[in-house]
Amino acid sequence: TGVIETRALGKVYAAGSEAEVVALCDVDMRIGRGEFVAIMGPSGSGKSTLMNLLGCLDTPSAGTYWCDGIDVASLDAEGRARLRLDKIGFVFQGFNLLPRMDALENVAMPMGYANVHREQRLKRAHEALEAVGLGNRQHHRPSEMSGGQQQRVAIARALINRPPILLADEPTGALDSKTGEEILALFKRLQQEDHTVVLITHDPDVAHHCDRIFTMRDGCLTEETRA
Ligand code: ADP
Ligand code: ADP
Repeated sequence: TGVIETRALGKVYAAGSEAEVVALCDVDMRIGRGEFVAIMGPSGSGKSTLMNLLGCLDTPSAGTYWCDGIDVASLDAEGRARLRLDKIGFVFQGFNLLPRMDALENVAMPMGYANVHREQRLKRAHEALEAVGLGNRQHHRPSEMSGGQQQRVAIARALINRPPILLADEPTGALDSKTGEEILALFKRLQQEDHTVVLITHDPDVAHHCDRIFTMRDGCLTEETRA
């Protein structure tokens, strides 16, 4: 079975009101361990909504989502938060690093919620930075690093709890194409280490690096192609 599996997943915002929006409708997808997939589609087609559901940041209005085999609907809010920490790393276009913290502290931060002692946390953060090629930048703050370096710090942070799934929303959107290629090469390496990587992109050249491309339109998955 897939690490990510959905059946008839749906999301309606403001249900029953005048402002009702069907943002996602009947989405069936299965993504296996170690796959690298892209989600494409025009603005408003439901990509963020789908990512929020896959990331257990929001709950569906219909259908089922199994995250690494666990039916997310069977969990309460606390269970979902726990699942999110254990299973999912998030990477964003804007890096979302804390400006007053250095690279090491930024990477160590999410483990604060995961009951890991400070010493152990910093050790793991250091290892995660080494894994993304930034072992020599631990004490640099975000403002002292290039965009590509900041994104690698953000990826190290996403990996700190060793989640099987990485969700990335336009991770190369703020980078020049050469730096973007380096970030994609890093995702491919993580894929080889058995991480499942799902990225949203508008850029066909970025999607081309993935194994499969899902295309969305008006809340539906309309197409699935092999890249
Ligand atoms: P993008 O197209 O870059 O994914 P959007 O502008 O669609 O970004 O959405 C940005 C954020 O705003 C998302 O978290 C989304 O859930 C939220 N959002 C989008 N449209 C609406 C809306 N009509 N009402 C409230 N929130 C919205
Ligand atoms: P995309 O990421 O592809 O741009 P979104 O998932 O952000 O698409 O949005 C899908 C649809 O849902 C859009 O019509 C958007 O306006 C609407 N939407 C997204 N988030 C919200 C929200 N929090 N409340 C109401 N409508 C929303």
